[in-house]
Amino acid sequence: MLKGMFKKTTYINITNEVINEIAGAPKADVPVEVPEGLWTKCPKCGQANYTKDLKESFFVCGHCRHHLRMGAMDRLEMLLDENSFTSWDGDVETGNPLEFPEYPEKIERARKATGLDEAVVTGTGRIDGLETAIGVMDAAFFMGSMGHAVGEKITRLIERATKMRLPVIIYCCSGGARMQEGMISLMQMAKTSAAVQRHGEAGLAYFTVLTDPTTGGVTASFAMLGDVIMAEPGVLVGFAGPRVIEQTIGQKLPKGFQRAEFLLEHGLIDAIVERQDQKEVLKKLILWHQPGCLDDENRGALE
Ligand SMILES: [Zn+2]
Repeated sequence: MLKGMFKKTTYINITNEVINEIAGAPKADVPVEVPEGLWTKCPKCGQANYTKDLKESFFVCGHCRHHLRMGAMDRLEMLLDENSFTSWDGDVETGNPLEFPEYPEKIERARKATGLDEAVVTGTGRIDGLETAIGVMDAAFFMGSMGHAVGEKITRLIERATKMRLPVIIYCCSGGARMQEGMISLMQMAKTSAAVQRHGEAGLAYFTVLTDPTTGGVTASFAMLGDVIMAEPGVLVGFAGPRVIEQTIGQKLPKGFQRAEFLLEHGLIDAIVERQDQKEVLKKLILWHQPGCLDDENRGALE
């Protein structure tokens, strides 16, 4: 019976505007997310979810199990032990090397809208008592695009983890390289990949979780270099988008091309893991990759 009542998408938009107006916020070009909105419409099945329930179910639609976009801070809260997170390198500066018009202003607006300093949050925390270095990208900040600051934060995360002998987990999510920074964005692919290589040579484990969407330069660098690569159900993972490929090769692409299930079937990723299981799976992976994990006295923990 309630189904028909919340069908209009405008409901949430009106709520945002009203709240902004009450708060006296200036009108921004970027849409402002209001997590306190009463209902959130699932972009896949169109059904309304009670926002409070949605947060408790890690932003998975109660009707169709679609994994909605999730912010970096919500993910950290989902994965890490309470109060165990220490943020690193929040002060890496986002420059404007090409003097791209209005770029600094857009960064400022994204900062205000998301509360993040850049498109990735990095640091260290504990998963059921196991310490790990972790980076989480956020699509709400410039579509998770990788410029100098994102590449630098990820490189520092991996380098520091190598020194501290910690595993690294990165939740990837990106529209690709940040075009406003041109070639400097592309350099980040080599820089982050080299850091991953040195971390691996030190005998340490690196896990990636691909979330929607993981594309462009992030896919072509650290996202696909995980010792174990996982993805959330149904996510888009690719280098160029499907439309660009179709236009280039002049052919129609197979159904489900570049979706997580297709990639798993074709051996590009190792597993699809639902959000509710991610903490447990990551915990086991960290345990399995610890030195001495196969010794008799430690075997119990692996069950
Ligand atoms: Zn749904």
